[in-house]
Amino acid sequence: MNQDRHYDVIVLGAGAAGLMCALTLGQVGLRVLVLEKSNKPGKKILMSGGGRCNFTNIHSAPDNFISANPHFCKSALSRFTPWHFIEMVNRYNIPYHEKELGQLFCDRSSKDILNMLLDECADGQITIQMSSEILELSTKEPVVIRTNHGTYQADRLVVATGGLSIPKMGGSGFGYDMAEQLDLSVRPKRAGLVPLVFTDIHKAMFAALSGTSIEVEVSLPQNTQAPNFRHQMLFTHRGLSGPCMLQISSYWGSGEVLRVNLLPEIDDVFAALSDFKEKAPQKSFSHWLSQHWPAKVVQMFLEHLWPDLKQKTFQELSSSEFQELAEKLSAWQLKPSGTEGYRTAEVTLGGVDTKHLSSKTMAVKDLPYIYFIGEVVDVTGHLGGHNFQWAWASGYAAAQDIISVSKPA
Ligand SMILES: Cc1cc2nc3c(=O)[nH]c(=O)nc-3n(C[C@H](O)[C@H](O)[C@H](O)COP(=O)(O)OP(=O)(O)OC[C@H]3O[C@@H](n4cnc5c(N)ncnc54)[C@H](O)[C@@H]3O)c2cc1C
Repeated sequence: MNQDRHYDVIVLGAGAAGLMCALTLGQVGLRVLVLEKSNKPGKKILMSGGGRCNFTNIHSAPDNFISANPHFCKSALSRFTPWHFIEMVNRYNIPYHEKELGQLFCDRSSKDILNMLLDECADGQITIQMSSEILELSTKEPVVIRTNHGTYQADRLVVATGGLSIPKMGGSGFGYDMAEQLDLSVRPKRAGLVPLVFTDIHKAMFAALSGTSIEVEVSLPQNTQAPNFRHQMLFTHRGLSGPCMLQISSYWGSGEVLRVNLLPEIDDVFAALSDFKEKAPQKSFSHWLSQHWPAKVVQMFLEHLWPDLKQKTFQELSSSEFQELAEKLSAWQLKPSGTEGYRTAEVTLGGVDTKHLSSKTMAVKDLPYIYFIGEVVDVTGHLGGHNFQWAWASGYAAAQDIISVSKPA
């Protein structure tokens, strides 16, 4: 093989994880080729965080991740923390801010993060070959990859091809297929951080409120693994979205019922209603609700859920009506019919089973010259910058191992 076509490392995928891995390798002088199927690198970085890239979360910790093995992510996350990434961001003088809950966003645009990663790759003389189609891949040592641009060879291969979400932005099943060809099991995949869809009686109400949001707390009583999430719930034309519903969607399974506390700021809704009844028996229930929600939301809930109570004053409410209201407001039971799927999902849950990978190096245990990093692995973060933190940390972990076993020029 022509020396020009032999690399120390080939990285498949110029997304968050692949670029972080490549730039770390480039810094020590390793010859790295990144093969990217798309016509541009880092498309998901560009569209992330509503165009402002929520590039990390200063509170990122293992319990922000979902995986069949919750311990797997610990090693990589502890060796490349949010502060390591922030150090790079600061070095590039990229302005950013904490939006809430430790989530760091660019002040200007996601382009700042992508340009920083590409500049670092350029410093390390990394070759990024865009619009690459992999036609044949031999995973014996050394790895040989035939593409539409030619055939390349490498001592090490890093698979950073991401997940299935947003196929238009590069979402692909390539990494999963490759894992299966290597006899590695792949944990069941499904869309995560995705809006929930409803086809029941609530659909019309949600559609009428599309674009409005209220703060709620949501839980999944049947799933003991699922944390409660308290945040905004956004009504959409097809159902429910917003941070709260996106978070719970990663735990929700088909047929499961959500429990939504519609007034999470009130500890005891029954007591609050009773208190109000005593103080203002002539006031209507709708009057009380409008102290908590926008008028449009009050109107829609009354019309769809409690049409008989629209005009009633507190003293006219029967004790069973009273009880039902308190129950519904604090523990509304909702059964989504599904999710919007990969078309709009931010992430793919499941993926390459971590039992085949070293948590320290991300290398395949039986083929230690092949690595899987980023979203293709069965590690999925909560909303809020955790998925990028996993991409940076797992990319860095693989690079450190490659550096330790390679002899840079
Ligand atoms: C709309 C949206 C918003 C998001 N916002 C945030 C956010 O603000 N914060 C956050 O932490 N996370 C966010 N995420 C999630 C985050 O983008 C991903 O978790 C992260 O990009 C995963 O990094 P990755 O490198 O593993 O995969 P990707 O970034 O998806 O990169 C994979 C790359 O591999 C390429 N590829 C695929 N198949 C092949 C192949 N056969 N050959 C060569 N190349 C291939 C793809 O084109 C792509 O460039 C968001 C996701 C979406 C969809």
